[in-house]
Amino acid sequence: MKGQIQPLRITLKQCVTLYKAIHMLDEKALGIMKEMMEAFGPSGFEREVNAKVKAYMEPIADEMLTDKLGTVAFSLKGEGPTVLVAGHTDEVGFIISSITKEGYLTFNQLGGWWDQVLLAQRVVVRGRNGDVHGVIASKPPHILPPDERKKVVEKKDMYIDIGASSEEEVEAAGIKVGDPVVPWSPFSLIQDKKVAMAKAFDDRIGAFVAMEAMRRIKEQGIPHPNTVVGAATVQEEVGLRGAQTIAHKVDPDVAIVLEVDIAGDVPGIKPQEAQTKMGKGPGLITYDRSMIPNQPFKEFVIETAKQAQIPLQLSQMAGGGTDAGRIHMNRAGCPTVVLTVPTRHIHSHVGLLSLKDTENAVRLVIELVKRLDEKTVEGFTAL
Ligand SMILES: [Zn+2]
Repeated sequence: MKGQIQPLRITLKQCVTLYKAIHMLDEKALGIMKEMMEAFGPSGFEREVNAKVKAYMEPIADEMLTDKLGTVAFSLKGEGPTVLVAGHTDEVGFIISSITKEGYLTFNQLGGWWDQVLLAQRVVVRGRNGDVHGVIASKPPHILPPDERKKVVEKKDMYIDIGASSEEEVEAAGIKVGDPVVPWSPFSLIQDKKVAMAKAFDDRIGAFVAMEAMRRIKEQGIPHPNTVVGAATVQEEVGLRGAQTIAHKVDPDVAIVLEVDIAGDVPGIKPQEAQTKMGKGPGLITYDRSMIPNQPFKEFVIETAKQAQIPLQLSQMAGGGTDAGRIHMNRAGCPTVVLTVPTRHIHSHVGLLSLKDTENAVRLVIELVKRLDEKTVEGFTAL
């Protein structure tokens, strides 16, 4: 056949569509994100969510690993250092502490809860006959004297109402002391599908970013001079427990912990209190209560983001810690950084985050994994 090869001409609109197709979370990714956020899994009760992670990653990973606390990990094998990319899949929740004669449930918290966000929120109690819906309640304000109405009701004065009227009815519903509770909060996309709203972003979005980065590395055949091990860790919210056991098992040479950040673009927050803003890119934690990051690794992240033209926000979290607190002290130590997706209203029934920030976090993890070769990793600890 004769003729000239025509240069490919596309309109700006087609170009944008193409860019989005390459650089945005696809339907499969959004599907597992929704499934993970809606799954049941407070600290110590992560089986349901981690079974979903396992089923999703099994066809992608070269090898699946677990520890004996419930963390599930998945690796892509290669030559060179072992890179751990971890996010925790437990969510903040509650555990039933007693059942009253009148059929109400008292509770302890699994992870940190602020008393002010609890009242009138719907919850799900997982008993032995399946899930039971309820609401967190207290003495109604109508019967309180005026000065008491102004006071914050404390957790210890709240109870869960499942509509029962006696201890026997609670028992018949299959609920016992020690049963777990989570918020009831469906996943939705808002703001022209640019913002996601759900429970459990802290920190299933971190585990999701690790999974999505590894899926792309595998599916697109992206070369990496290392073995990458993704991990969905357990029991972070009650003291970074799963991070310790999986770090021991994997024995990483370097680690990237993925977390949520406290988005500071909420009325009343000063820049020194929370630095990152939703929609302005992933964050890099420069200091928190559990870790001072390895400095050459921190600079390497900043430089990599610059090279790859990925927006990056520097943040600090003086009042909190992450799984990195344990991972960086594994055995003889492990250079570790924490990358974040800025999230509004964490540790409540509903968090908000930007899908663009999530996408950029995935891209940054991939760019880092591509560059973490033996020489670079050795350089992080060289004097
Ligand atoms: Zn948290």
